[in-house]
Amino acid sequence: MQLIHTLDIYTIVELIGTPKEHAMTDLDHVSLDPIDIADELTVAINELSEFHSSSEKVITVESTKLVGLADIEYPYTCYRVPGQAENACKLTSPSDLPSQIRDIYKIDSGLNNLYAQKNTLLIGVQACVWSRYGKSGVATVSGMSAMKFNTTRPSTPTSQHNKGRAFDVKLQGRMMSNGSSYDQLACAYLCMYCVEAGATRLIFSDNAVVDAVNKATGKSVCIALAGHKNHIHLDNR
Ligand SMILES: [Zn+2]
Repeated sequence: MQLIHTLDIYTIVELIGTPKEHAMTDLDHVSLDPIDIADELTVAINELSEFHSSSEKVITVESTKLVGLADIEYPYTCYRVPGQAENACKLTSPSDLPSQIRDIYKIDSGLNNLYAQKNTLLIGVQACVWSRYGKSGVATVSGMSAMKFNTTRPSTPTSQHNKGRAFDVKLQGRMMSNGSSYDQLACAYLCMYCVEAGATRLIFSDNAVVDAVNKATGKSVCIALAGHKNHIHLDNR
């Protein structure tokens, strides 16, 4: 066993011979008829023109000024999705941001649904910017929508995640779900930044934080609901 493991590929070929000559010869003679190739190309060309006419997933590259980023504009990409009125705008990967603002947010590992309607995206990112340069530090984006919004959470059809109007954030390791590491004040700041950025509803499981943010902002948009100990959910309806 040991010996066989240490044999290199040339030795193995020597030992078992080279019965591939026949196969090689076959391969050499495999050549498609030009007419067959042309047929395949014609199909592909037709697909190209279909793609054109359906205007699927037309991409627009945009950039927007956000409060707190001075002259650096936040770049992002929006996609037109067939059968969906609103474009799906994608949260830009930090590595694709201008180097000076690569730390304005983190994206939760494993989060693939990175789309929202444009205004919702910009409200969420603005809240992250305020958190980063404000009192709660770098926030982690933990939930958005699929490119085709209504496929995001089929089991909860009324969720704004199914409309591209929801954005979830958290402070890694500092949420209620992190037990004694819960940073209640930082979460209150982050909730406040979300409200001030334009959230029309905000859900978090801590009654004290919800009451305080409603009081301080004078906007009664925060509500306490179960299931939101590990993230803060914002709606933009
Ligand atoms: Zn949510």
